[in-house]
Amino acid sequence: MSVDCIFCKIVHGTIPSKKIYEDDDVIAFNDINPSAKVHFLIVPKVHVDSLMGCEAQHQALLGKVLLLAPRLAKEQGLAGFKTLINTGKEGGQEVFHLHVHVLGGGYKLPQN
Ligand code: AMP
Ligand code: ZN
Repeated sequence: MSVDCIFCKIVHGTIPSKKIYEDDDVIAFNDINPSAKVHFLIVPKVHVDSLMGCEAQHQALLGKVLLLAPRLAKEQGLAGFKTLINTGKEGGQEVFHLHVHVLGGGYKLPQN
């Protein structure tokens, strides 16, 4: 856990979230400022700053996170969706705890 990390606080339940999924390794919750009708974040519980901070040891976890995207998207009623991983300040990342955005269901979808 990183003490100043907002997603670590969500993982540990010290700040609330609209959780849609949780297991031993991963949590998923609705984005607080949605860019689409459905917009949730899939977040590994372990604190890793970004995709650039991932190493070989994270391979299985990354696979698990990606495989959850279609499963949770379907559960949220989506037949298709966009995924987005902002990486680093120059990549538009604002929360430095690795997460995958899943967006769908119309309006304001990012085009790049
Ligand atoms: P990124 O630019 O990829 O780092 O995106 C961070 C995302 O986290 C943004 O879409 C925010 O709206 C979202 N976010 C920030 N704080 C919270 C929170 N407490 N609960 C849910 N989503 C959040
Ligand atoms: Zn964290």
